[in-house]
Amino acid sequence: MKICRFNGGRLGVVQDGEVFDVTSVLDLLPAQRYPLPQKDLLIEALPQLKVPLRQAMTNAKRYAVADVSFLSPVANPGKIIGAPINYKAHVKESRKDPGIAHGRSVTSIGDWGMFLKAGSSLIGCGQEIELRFADRRNDHEVELGVVIGSVCRNVKRDVAMAHVAGYSIALDMTLRGPEFQCFRKSIDSYSVLGPWLVTADEISDPDQLDLWLRVNGEMRQRSNTRHLVFDIARLIEFASSFYTLNPGDIIMSGTPEGVGPVKPGDLIEAGIERIGNFSIRVAPEYFH
Ligand code: MN
Repeated sequence: MKICRFNGGRLGVVQDGEVFDVTSVLDLLPAQRYPLPQKDLLIEALPQLKVPLRQAMTNAKRYAVADVSFLSPVANPGKIIGAPINYKAHVKESRKDPGIAHGRSVTSIGDWGMFLKAGSSLIGCGQEIELRFADRRNDHEVELGVVIGSVCRNVKRDVAMAHVAGYSIALDMTLRGPEFQCFRKSIDSYSVLGPWLVTADEISDPDQLDLWLRVNGEMRQRSNTRHLVFDIARLIEFASSFYTLNPGDIIMSGTPEGVGPVKPGDLIEAGIERIGNFSIRVAPEYFH
């Protein structure tokens, strides 16, 4: 099932090029009182909502996918976790290009560990990426986004995949420079997730997916998740050995080679096999 959020907060199921408005299903989520939990209630409830979602589709208003504006399919991630230097060919290009490494020693994801992106950086593909710092390099990174479905802590790789709710296309937009990743990659709008979440039952092997990214029609990145250094199960094992993972937490699994700069007004298109594709506009001016 493909779950989306669209047009200012409506809930949708995507099927055959149409978005079915199933917003009424949100009424089934548990009412919460302060303090709110650090998790996404919709993602946590998805297994129980499958039947109500199907029922709500029968009389749902429908829209063409091209006619709606998508928000991030996860509204309230407790964490967005990044995976640095996690494709072999991207490790190579990072060692070669001082504009990427900025003097850091490019060793391995096992040495570097993972990093957090601020939740306030997250947008959907119907919104715009607002670049900052006109005098610096702002790069695109296309990645498979993994959305956690159930609590896990110190989970081993052989059972890790049972904790995945689904997958989305992620952009880990990146300001290059000397600051730590958690700072440079957490600028507002520098985390994109979309266009929808494909539930895990529809993707039997997330470590065998083609992914690509184009800027203004030019192919910049093209690879397959089989080239990941730490595969998806290992990333969940690794992340959960440091953080408790909660429903709605997002792991951006790393970018393949071909990262490069974008400018105001650019059109970014990205796609991942079995998920789909989206296009997102870079705002026509730098953020002031
Ligand atoms: Mn990245």
